[in-house]
Amino acid sequence: MDSARLSRFNQTGPAGIRVSFEFFPPKTAEMEQSLWEAIARLAPLQPNFVSVTYGAGGSTRERTHATVKRILAETMLTPAAHLTCVAATRSEVDTVIGAYASAGVRHIVALRGDPLGGIGERFSPHPGGYENAADLVGGIKRIADVEISVSAYPEKHPESATVAADIDMLKAKVDAGASRAITQFFFENSLYLRYLDRVRASGINIPIVPGILPVQNFKQTKSFAERTGASVPDWLARRFDGLDEDPATRKLIAAAVAAEQVLDLVDQGVTDFHFYTMNRADLVYAICHLLGLRPGQQRQMRPQPFIETERA
Ligand SMILES: Cc1cc2nc3c(=O)[nH]c(=O)nc-3n(C[C@H](O)[C@H](O)[C@H](O)COP(=O)(O)OP(=O)(O)OC[C@H]3O[C@@H](n4cnc5c(N)ncnc54)[C@H](O)[C@@H]3O)c2cc1C
Repeated sequence: MDSARLSRFNQTGPAGIRVSFEFFPPKTAEMEQSLWEAIARLAPLQPNFVSVTYGAGGSTRERTHATVKRILAETMLTPAAHLTCVAATRSEVDTVIGAYASAGVRHIVALRGDPLGGIGERFSPHPGGYENAADLVGGIKRIADVEISVSAYPEKHPESATVAADIDMLKAKVDAGASRAITQFFFENSLYLRYLDRVRASGINIPIVPGILPVQNFKQTKSFAERTGASVPDWLARRFDGLDEDPATRKLIAAAVAAEQVLDLVDQGVTDFHFYTMNRADLVYAICHLLGLRPGQQRQMRPQPFIETERA
């Protein structure tokens, strides 16, 4: 065992590691069930918060809201609702912010969102809508007293001309009131660490939490990465090579890859991790276990009222 890792790990201690989990709102009853199985499995790890995405073009507005409300009602978790500026006027977005605030949501992940035509199209703000994520952060701050997280891109956003322009946008979001950034996923830790140096050199001091994507399905990950500007190193492709028809081995490799990534980040002093769960618990649970997290004694799911079924 690497003694440097052990000593750093012991110094930090599992209590020093904080995780958050990202879910997407389910489309069908079957997906709803697997989401809730994942939430029930991961909840005892007592994440810092759990976030729920907002579909492209605001397509999941109601489902995101319903999922966040159910998390509030049925668990002790702190939900963070994602919100974008796409295809909505300011007043429509403000209504959503107000609805979250009155439902008891205290954390919003504020995003510009992708253009309606999909990634690669030119984004133009909705007439009368918020211009970009920084503008949205300012709007949220005016309406609700909530914590605001935003996105960050270690390999720069595909629409950004330069990393410097990207960091300028991050600075604008922080100046508007964001207190945490969550990164796009990446597989080379050196990219994140170099980015972090540049962010700190620009005077940005909020936590830049690495977004970790356990590779549940390599083909899907590769195509998603291509669209979002995240690079997929050759070594990663080689690790999944020949495993298309072998899900069991794929899962073991995925766990090994993610374990290597997070433990290396711990060695570099990182203590906070945001996991893109894809609504599945097993890989994320295993990686958190490796990080030293154990189910807490406190109840994380609220007991549900007993509903008596109709007697015959
Ligand atoms: C942690 C995380 C969570 C996400 N959750 C969701 C979600 O729930 N729903 C969803 O739809 N999407 C989500 N996304 C994706 C995100 O909406 C897209 O990446 C979108 O294209 C940019 O939104 P943003 O808030 O990152 O944009 P911004 O922070 O506003 O911009 C990102 C970068 O793009 C550049 N840029 C932006 N606009 C322009 C422009 N017009 N011209 C030139 N450069 C420009 C800026 O330099 C900036 O640095 C998420 C991304 C991350 C990293």
